[in-house]
Amino acid sequence: MRKQDDTTFLALLGLIAEGARSICVGLHITAINFFRPSVCERYPRRDGKPDWQPRPGYRGDFALISDAERPGGLRCIACLQCQNICPDKCIHITPTGKGKERHPKQFLIDAGLCMYCWLCVEVCPVAALTMTPDYETSTDRPEKLIRTLEQLRERGKEYPEPLKVEMARADATSVAPTERRGD
Ligand code: SF4
Ligand code: SF4
Repeated sequence: MRKQDDTTFLALLGLIAEGARSICVGLHITAINFFRPSVCERYPRRDGKPDWQPRPGYRGDFALISDAERPGGLRCIACLQCQNICPDKCIHITPTGKGKERHPKQFLIDAGLCMYCWLCVEVCPVAALTMTPDYETSTDRPEKLIRTLEQLRERGKEYPEPLKVEMARADATSVAPTERRGD
């Protein structure tokens, strides 16, 4: 009987030791993370940095690249490849003109439906469409998220070439993780 009591006592001690060990491991991880810089960007506060920009590789609002030599003033040849590849069916283009004169008469992107997969940008044969670092897209009405030809053209004036997400990714990964976590 005495031997059985000893065995039970030892088993209990083992359980207590195991419980204490896992509490220590948990506290250790909590302590490490408590003092690590935050990975979150504070929005809209941005810590008093009015010129704050998203990390390289961020896919924000759309733009059509300008080309003053082409009809419509855009590089787009209205080939519809972006419209056809879009998995969310959020691009709608109405082409006009024939041959070298072909260009979009209407170009709509529903940024509310978009999942920012980048396929439309990747498929464009003439690098006419891009996503930009513009991130201030919130609105109280879903219809305001539909980008029109004029809006896309206007934003495109700030971007002479499409954003290169692959290169931006490489830049982002070349930054040490601790540097990426906090500004
Ligand atoms: S990023 Fe993807 S979902 Fe958005 S418009 Fe382009 S293809 Fe469609
Ligand atoms: S943006 Fe590019 S893929 Fe889309 S219609 Fe224009 S040329 Fe074609």
